[in-house]
Amino acid sequence: MSRSSTHGGNPHSVDPVRRRRSHFLFLFLDGVGIGKGDPDINPFFSIDLPHFRKIFGGIPYTEHSVLDNGSSSVQPSDALLGVEGLPQSGTGQTSLFTGVNAARVIGAHFGPYPHSQIKPLLEEKNIFRVLKTLGADVHFANAFPKQFFEYVESGHRKLSVTTMSCMMTGIPLCNADSMRNGDGISADITAERWRSELGYSDIEPLSPFDAGKRLKSIAQKHDFTMFEYFLTDKAGHDRNKTLTEIVLKNFDELLGGVTSDGMENLTLLISSDHGNVEDLSVKTHTLNPSLTAVAGEHAGFFKGRLGSICDVTPRIVGLFTERFL
Ligand SMILES: [Zn+2]
Repeated sequence: MSRSSTHGGNPHSVDPVRRRRSHFLFLFLDGVGIGKGDPDINPFFSIDLPHFRKIFGGIPYTEHSVLDNGSSSVQPSDALLGVEGLPQSGTGQTSLFTGVNAARVIGAHFGPYPHSQIKPLLEEKNIFRVLKTLGADVHFANAFPKQFFEYVESGHRKLSVTTMSCMMTGIPLCNADSMRNGDGISADITAERWRSELGYSDIEPLSPFDAGKRLKSIAQKHDFTMFEYFLTDKAGHDRNKTLTEIVLKNFDELLGGVTSDGMENLTLLISSDHGNVEDLSVKTHTLNPSLTAVAGEHAGFFKGRLGSICDVTPRIVGLFTERFL
């Protein structure tokens, strides 16, 4: 396990030789709630998702939103946060990745990008910073093409909560070289566009299952790894059944790759900021609770403890404080 020398002076640091080789993978799905078990509107009930079913013992729906499959579980996490209106990504993701109710802080759901008023909160309390301060080696696995870095360089500031958190915290963003050396995953999982549209003739598409295996091997090099999949939210807004099928099948295959060869020394947490794609009868976000699912080594630490999206980061930090570091 790699460990940066900058962590050397941290009072929580433990001799790397004595540390258990335990790893945490946070799979962030944008816009996935637990909704009605109706195949006409809920693609989780019209598209076959064999890996999700196998890992979690079924597909959750409103009347059956808690699944317990022994070593893995699914639970609903409140995304309304006691604030009126439809949940949005800026406040939802800030709440998910800081543990502070960001919608309460500004008095409204706001998005998709973080509101200027909550940037200081994000800077101080984002999960990357908190875990890094504890001495954890943290990694954001999404890889960005040169076009993204040019966009940032030219002064554009419309950045997602995760990307902004990394920049605020000094976590390097993965780039084309990360794709080449196996340290990064494309935001679309398969890297379909890198060769065909983004000008990278040497970056081959990956099957989503192989991308999952790659993501697992990335997670095994770090204490904490996050991968963000935003296409679930896009599919929900577009209400496009073909796109939704590709997006969910790719996610399911990714899960298959991550969990192939067992989950020893790896904890997988899947969480979302708000509902959307689970109800294709509307193009907006929904009032449904977010999907939260956990599997692997420390899954039991989370079972029944994530009633709100604000509970996710504090619980992960609790795990690192108690068991990891
Ligand atoms: Zn959205």
